[in-house]
Amino acid sequence: MSAEKIYVTRIIVPDAIDKLRENFDEVEVWPEPTPPPKDLMIQKVAECDGMMIESNDIMDSEVFQAVKKLKVVGTRAIGIDNIDVVAATKKGVAIGNTPGILHESCADFTMGLILSLARQVTRSNRKVISGEWKIFDQTPYLGTDVHGKTLGLIGLGLIGTAVAKRATGFDMDIKYYSRTRKEADEKKYGLQWTPDLNELLSTSDYVSVHVPLGPETINFIGTDQLQVMKKDSFLINTSRGGTVDPDALRDALLEGKIAGAALDVTSPEPIAPNDPLVHMENVIITPHIASASAATLRRMGLMAADNVINFLKGEEMPACLNPEVINS
Ligand code: NAP
Repeated sequence: MSAEKIYVTRIIVPDAIDKLRENFDEVEVWPEPTPPPKDLMIQKVAECDGMMIESNDIMDSEVFQAVKKLKVVGTRAIGIDNIDVVAATKKGVAIGNTPGILHESCADFTMGLILSLARQVTRSNRKVISGEWKIFDQTPYLGTDVHGKTLGLIGLGLIGTAVAKRATGFDMDIKYYSRTRKEADEKKYGLQWTPDLNELLSTSDYVSVHVPLGPETINFIGTDQLQVMKKDSFLINTSRGGTVDPDALRDALLEGKIAGAALDVTSPEPIAPNDPLVHMENVIITPHIASASAATLRRMGLMAADNVINFLKGEEMPACLNPEVINS
């Protein structure tokens, strides 16, 4: 048992908290389902040795400015758009995330969104719930096929590749836009590299976004990009809400520039219940749950805890984003 103090910002994975308690004398847990307020984060950063956080806990340069003895932060996520890693590195704080264990669950979910959108699963289900299914008539729910259609992946990292793998089973033609060409994946899954984003957008029936949110990808899909998409095409976003401009998307849907959208992530989160996007019949919005199978959520929690435990015990972290702090 070590004397370091650990702060955990949510009770989402009790097994991960138990694991931290098996290793450290003092593990304090924020009891609310919402992120701790900023002034509390600043206080905890000042008094703790390690923290385990969620993807919506903001750790910006102001928060890291308060570091006194904090050495490691483990986020239960792969996305790190909520963390100023440069500021953390300047303060000698190691940042750990959870790659390699959630992409298959995210890809399952992405395919689920594509299928639901194409075949109007959620829209027709809402009609059944509201009592509008009175007769056998399929014509109000005529969908679009998925097999034989073109899938355009924006970003071919762990999740994009796992989606591609699934889409081959649906006999889709698959294109991808990525900074770097992935020839091994092209051969393995029959993918076509499309370095011209507009070409991908204008030739895909389903466009699925899988790039991280950062300065280069904020509003990556905006008015100009939606403009070139096919009128009968669909946009799927399971990355981060900020990669798609919500105003541009709202306009494009209202003007019929694309056929529909499925968003597991929105900007802001949660999306306002009165946002027109929520009420469009050709839009599916889910509450940022692409990775959240029970098994994957638990594995992510345990990996985030292991990042904290290993660093403080002088062992290798499962995934460290700024290893330069380890030997500094
Ligand atoms: P990843 O393995 O790091 O892959 C990211 C891909 O995006 C890579 O192909 C990368 O290209 C590309 N990329 C990065 N910056 C780019 C840029 N500026 N322009 C073009 N391409 C760029 O990440 P992942 O595991 O697939 O996850 C992707 C994102 O999904 C995460 O960052 C996270 O935000 C989100 N996510 C969401 C959920 C959810 O619950 N909805 C769950 C997990 C993750 P290179 O290969 O050239 O570097």
